[in-house]
This record gives sequence, C-alpha cells and structure tokens, in this order.
Amino acid sequence: MCGIVGILAERPVAGLLVDGLQRLEYRGYDSAGLATLVGDGIERRRAEGKLANLVERLVKEPLSGTVGIGHTRWATHGRPSEDNAHPHATELVAVVHNGIIENYRVLRMELEAKQYRFASETDTETIAQLLTDFLKQGMTPQQATAATLARLEGAFALGILFKGHNKLLIGARRGSPLAIGYGDGEMYLGSDALALAPLTNRITYLEEGDWAELHPGKAI
Ligand code: GLU
Repeated sequence: MCGIVGILAERPVAGLLVDGLQRLEYRGYDSAGLATLVGDGIERRRAEGKLANLVERLVKEPLSGTVGIGHTRWATHGRPSEDNAHPHATELVAVVHNGIIENYRVLRMELEAKQYRFASETDTETIAQLLTDFLKQGMTPQQATAATLARLEGAFALGILFKGHNKLLIGARRGSPLAIGYGDGEMYLGSDALALAPLTNRITYLEEGDWAELHPGKAI
C-alpha cells in the first residue's frame, strides 16, 4: 500500500502534490502520478519509476488546476508501468487508491459487459469505471460514491475527483488510513499525516469504513 495526497485549493496544486508525494517516498513505490481538473476536463501526468521521472514529465508538460490528487503506487494488480500508474480515470472521474479490491474481477466483467473499456490491468480502474457507470445513471458524485463503496470488497483508501466539480474532493477508507487536513480555506487528503506536514498541522483521520466530502474550508 502506498501513498495518497489530495488538495483542494485556489492556487495551482501540482507542485504541492509532488511535495506531498516526496514525503511519502520512504514507503517505497514503483510509479507515480497526478490528476487535476483543468477547464472542463480531467488531466493526468504519470510516470513509471522514481518521482524524478514524473517531475521531468511535468517540466515538459506542466499541469495547471486548483484541485488534484497524487499517488505513489506499489503494484499489487498489474505490472509497474505508466498505464497501470494511478490516478485511474475516465472522462468523468479520477481515482487514487491504496490497497486491494478483492472482487475486482467480477466488477470488471460486469462493466465490460456494459461496454466499458479498460485501459489498465489494475483492480483500481474498476472503481473509476463503476463511479462512471453510476454518474451516467444520473447520480450525484456523493450518490455515486456511496453506491460504488457498497460494491467494493477489500481494503482501501481512496481519493476521488469529479469532472465539473472543482470545489469537491472525496476521500474514503476501509482498512487503510486516510487523513483529512484543514488549511486556510484549503483542504487536504493524505494517506499519512507526514504528507501534509508542510501544509497544515490541523489533521483528523477518517473513521474506519467512512467517507467524506471535502469542500473549501470544511469536510462533511
Ligand atoms: N492495488 C492497486 C494497484 O495495484 C493499488 C496499489 C497500492 O496500494 O499502491 O494498482
């Protein structure tokens, strides 16, 4: 299980996300990535190997956006590669995940039968596709999160962002820790309080089995 950072702010977050991921490097990882909301869509930068490779990618292709999620991956399902690096995304959501989704095969088969096409070998991508399926049925991000969590078996911490909702980040945990940090009008998610240390010392941990909506200045 590796590292998650999420930031909801009013300033560009890519550099802050990389700083947070650097603080989680001690845990070991095989690839890393970021996703932010830019304009009307989701943008990602991912790279296999060290964070320096991701930083090099970001220098060539900078990432703007004031809400974002970042991840360092320790592969459990699918080899270490850029395609399998998190965040996993569809046109509607991006997800970072620590842990394992035990029933991912069944979920993937169901979603493939509904014509959803997968771009990775990971268990995590089923979460992004499942959220998308619920959103396409007309659910709000909150409803889609609740419906998705009800289908997942296994251990996880999640950070999720939604296209068109640049004042919202969702975090969820079951069996893996996830911290919520409070800044001045900014909100943070971290798999480890250490990731958030330069940003805030006001931190709470999500309750086991719980999930939270982060809005500017508050978590509900
Ligand atoms: N099971 C996920 C994967 O293999 C997440 C691994 C992790 O916790 O970094 O992509």
